[in-house]
Amino acid sequence: MKKLFSLSDPVLGQKEKQALCEVIESGWVTMGERVTRFEEAFAKLHDAKNAVAVGSCTAGLHLCLKALNIGPGVEVLVPSLTFVATVNAVLYVGATPVFVDIQSEAAPHLSFSDAKAKCTAKTKAIIVMHYGGYLVDLTSWRSFAESNGLILIEDAAHAPGMEGVGRSSDAAVFSFFGNKNMTTAEGGMILARETSVLERIRRLRSHSMTTGTLDRYRGHAYSYDVTSLGFNYRMDELRAAIGLVQLDRLLEWNAKRRKLAKKYREVLALQIPGLLLPFNSAAQTAAHLMPVLLPQTTSREKVMQGLLNAGIQTSIHYPPVHTFSFYRNLYPGIRLQETENFCARELTLPLHQSMEEMDVEIIAKALGKTILDP
Ligand SMILES: *Cc1c(COP(=O)(O)O)cnc(C)c1O
Repeated sequence: MKKLFSLSDPVLGQKEKQALCEVIESGWVTMGERVTRFEEAFAKLHDAKNAVAVGSCTAGLHLCLKALNIGPGVEVLVPSLTFVATVNAVLYVGATPVFVDIQSEAAPHLSFSDAKAKCTAKTKAIIVMHYGGYLVDLTSWRSFAESNGLILIEDAAHAPGMEGVGRSSDAAVFSFFGNKNMTTAEGGMILARETSVLERIRRLRSHSMTTGTLDRYRGHAYSYDVTSLGFNYRMDELRAAIGLVQLDRLLEWNAKRRKLAKKYREVLALQIPGLLLPFNSAAQTAAHLMPVLLPQTTSREKVMQGLLNAGIQTSIHYPPVHTFSFYRNLYPGIRLQETENFCARELTLPLHQSMEEMDVEIIAKALGKTILDP
């Protein structure tokens, strides 16, 4: 049978099964000690004091904005080259997202000059996103945020385990969705610089109740107060148990992904001259995605179909958020030239930790063939 190349592929095995069985046998499935252990281990890996686990990255972004007092009447600078969740979270708290263009097709991170141009008296925060796992220049964004009096938030869904992430921003949010570098099926994690912010997030995660279910069950607490409008954005023990197993292998997996991304860059540059490979190198990346920009004259649809016929799954990361009908109706007439150019040509190739360098060669060859003869 011909080998199929999926875009992403979670690695789940015996250890995860065992961890799930242990939770079931323990008799306690909702947020408890495993969630705490997962938070501590995640924080340690990122050189942070603590972390808060949540039900998803989307929920995490919502909680961060809420805890940092971002609400109606203020503007938040956001990328359009991102998953829609980044921008939706801004609307959840009643603030106004202001779309910022990318630097260029070759450097598809947020543009400093466009961000500067879009700062107004109402701008209160900026969300940066480590597209594909390639880290934005956090030092420069920190000084940008400071000189403009802004809160800096990282959508770090693509960059778990990367050194420096969550260190210089006010908060960073990670995703453990099934197609991310590590998974808990659904899940997320938050790091925050200020302990007080992280504690506010922790409270908001569980309806702003002053005690947890486990405390009350164990008789450590008799009742509770509710101190503000909170949410149920908790993680549970089953997910935390999987997360603990996955976290152990995250750095090894990131390194493997980086190696594959490097290989892709080498063979693609050699074999398909008209292809544009964003970013300078695969050095500073969690290599979550393998994005390429097809030659301007190539039909992406035909290339995708051709690759699919060869058993190779591809995708587009992302359709720009400002072009979705919901956002077009809310904020008509927005043009982001570089983002639109990038997204019109972008194609994401398979990249995950179970692939081998040989697979990269096969995929690169197939891509070259479909571009020449779609
Ligand atoms: C996956 C993703 C999210 C959303 O993560 P969930 O855990 O599914 O809520 C947010 N932002 C980016 C950039 C993502 O890739």
